[in-house]
Amino acid sequence: MKRKIVKAERCFLKVSSQKAWGILRSWSLGCTKAYNFALTETLRVLEANRNGEKLGYPSYYMLNRFLTGFKADNPEMYGVPSHALQHAVKDLATAVSNYFIAKSEGDPDAKMPTHKPEHANHCVFLPACRFKIECDEGRWNLVLRHEGRPFRVRFFPNDDFNPDDVTSVRLTRPKVKVGKPVRCDAPLRAKKKWFVSLTHTYEKELDQEALPDLTVGIDRNAGLGNTIVVSNEDGEVQKRYVLPDSIDRLQDQIEKLQKKKDAIVEANGKNYKTRRVRALNMRIAKKHSKIANIRDDFINHVSKELSLMGRRLVLEDLDIKGMTKSAKGTEDKPGKNVKSKSELNRKILASGWGKLGDQVISKGWQEGADVYECPPEFTSQLCATPSCAKKGVMGIRCGKKFYCPECDVVRDADLNGSMNIARIGVDPRYRIKGQTRPTRRDKKKMEEAALQKEDS
Ligand SMILES: [Zn+2]
Repeated sequence: MKRKIVKAERCFLKVSSQKAWGILRSWSLGCTKAYNFALTETLRVLEANRNGEKLGYPSYYMLNRFLTGFKADNPEMYGVPSHALQHAVKDLATAVSNYFIAKSEGDPDAKMPTHKPEHANHCVFLPACRFKIECDEGRWNLVLRHEGRPFRVRFFPNDDFNPDDVTSVRLTRPKVKVGKPVRCDAPLRAKKKWFVSLTHTYEKELDQEALPDLTVGIDRNAGLGNTIVVSNEDGEVQKRYVLPDSIDRLQDQIEKLQKKKDAIVEANGKNYKTRRVRALNMRIAKKHSKIANIRDDFINHVSKELSLMGRRLVLEDLDIKGMTKSAKGTEDKPGKNVKSKSELNRKILASGWGKLGDQVISKGWQEGADVYECPPEFTSQLCATPSCAKKGVMGIRCGKKFYCPECDVVRDADLNGSMNIARIGVDPRYRIKGQTRPTRRDKKKMEEAALQKEDS
């Protein structure tokens, strides 16, 4: 079995010469400008459409036609690779279409993209024809061209780096600092480096027989203990992963610091920003990034283990955005249990279940397993004993225990859930045919195609 695999590798870019630094800066600024220009044009076209002119939907192709004129008006844009500019416009077109899809679905959080400030982080996309990779005595160089002349920047890939399958690169510009310099700005200083992310695309020969012949249901549990429980449909493979509790400890520390800061700000007014407040801000930011690191590390390890556990991996198709909606309600209709809901929301978001799902899908694909995403309805209420499951017997859940009156079985509620997921999920309808799950746009397209088929 052959599978197409896309992998990205991110590494430092050493831009030693002032000239190369200047060129890369002008490129990234150019991309940001092209993005902002395309956004202005999009808004103009939409406004004209609203006023009765029929200009059509501002698609990527239409925006690209405008780009030529924009380049002619701005002579400093001539040096910027056109692929990079087109890619920036494409990014915007995707963002706009995502906005319209979200709006049509009635999402209250849907937002039109906004203009990027000049100091924003922006990256320069280059396809394979715009760069060369050369090795000079173990030193890897990226050879780029500016106005016909080549220039080199050094980068530091992993030991098993293969330059042949690199299909594109993205150069990320360091964030430019604005305003007064802050005293303790170590994290910001670290950001002032250039990065390159290299995309490898290749076909890999995979042997599915090498994986154990099992269906594995993965139940991601938030709120109650933050665990992931794994089992097959008979409840045989039982594994439990618990999010490190150091995260809770850091969370408490952040709360304390936040209270300290709030007290200072409250006593001295909103605009009171002394060195002490800034230092507190920096300490809070550092703790947040520490939490993110711990969680990412945990997710990377667990998803790797999960991807090797069986030939069929089943996840729940959780609507994390819907689950974490605030219970606040409106002014006329205040919601109930706002505080406990926000606590639960924090736990769901802190656990990073969405990211874990993405990682399992991607890694499972790379190992040769089939990944399924099944609907999450009733997975925690149904009894997972085969005879009961056929009849659809609902059990009683009490805290962490699950009791079935039909077959008189008491089992762990999470284990019951993962057994149900393993049983329900293996269905060709739910299979994910790729390294990533289909985006909202893809899903919409598939739905429309299915509807058209029904009509005809
Ligand atoms: Zn039962």
